[in-house]
Amino acid sequence: MAALARSVLVTGSNRGIGLELVRQLAASRRPPQHIFATCRDPKGPRGKVSTGTGNGVVLSQALQELAAQHSSIKLVQLAILHFAFSLADTVNLPSIQRAIQAVGYHLKDQGLNLLINNAGISSHATLCSLDSQEMLNVFATNVVGPLQVVKEFLPLLEQAAKAAGKEGLSCSRAAVINISSKLGSIGLCLHVPEAPMYPYRASKAAQNMVTRCLAAELQDKGILCMAIHPGWVKTDMGKEEAPLTVEQSVRGILTVLASISQDTSGAFLDWEGNSLPW
Ligand code: NDP
Repeated sequence: MAALARSVLVTGSNRGIGLELVRQLAASRRPPQHIFATCRDPKGPRGKVSTGTGNGVVLSQALQELAAQHSSIKLVQLAILHFAFSLADTVNLPSIQRAIQAVGYHLKDQGLNLLINNAGISSHATLCSLDSQEMLNVFATNVVGPLQVVKEFLPLLEQAAKAAGKEGLSCSRAAVINISSKLGSIGLCLHVPEAPMYPYRASKAAQNMVTRCLAAELQDKGILCMAIHPGWVKTDMGKEEAPLTVEQSVRGILTVLASISQDTSGAFLDWEGNSLPW
């Protein structure tokens, strides 16, 4: 079986689903030549080994150890927001642009095949507990930042789409995969009223619209765009009571990514390949 893609970039890869995506990609029988594992602070204290308990080991130790075992993994610093988030200063454009330079250096003129927007934050705010700064912070991280990442990486994605020398849409040619959530589905919302999570749900619904718009706009450039729900997964975000391990979720996600094509561009699928209502 061919590699999923020659080059893959995963945001938020120091723990949770992002770390496992990098781990399984690197360990696959036909690994990508370049796996760009981005995180806010590759050498700093923010990285944690995801245990699903929230008691992560300090340092991006797991990612650093993984990178030491696989020459395909390149650690790249990419912070979606400035640490001192304020209303006037949200997305960390210089960080995204530095990441592009680092990635471009390795890719030469082949372009980036697969961009996985995985980094995200949750919020359990209810109508009573909600404050506007939290809502804006979640939107900046889950919607504005990932869209800015796509905008800035677009030249590299277009380059890959052209360099692939093939027609049709696929992850091996050029693709943007947004890690979404079932909780962002408006169609399913009435069935899950127990977790209002206003900022998180609204941000994922907005991210879904972004995915649809990108799919429509980038199709003619040969770039596939899709939203995927990873399931409810044992990570710092999903917590220990989640039914799925990161290994199961990511195995499913990578199987789905290997199978998607022109027909599934603009789709909202789950980790098992089932179609979800927007
Ligand atoms: P984790 O909380 O375990 O990991 C989140 C990752 O995102 C971390 O690497 C974190 O980095 C990174 N991140 C957060 N904010 C920023 C930022 N401003 N800049 C750069 N990186 C950032 O979450 P999961 O692995 O569980 O979730 C991954 C994705 O899957 C998210 O988009 C989430 O919404 C989605 N998802 C998860 C589900 C689950 O059950 N776990 C269910 C449905 C969707 P740092 O360590 O520096 O904070």
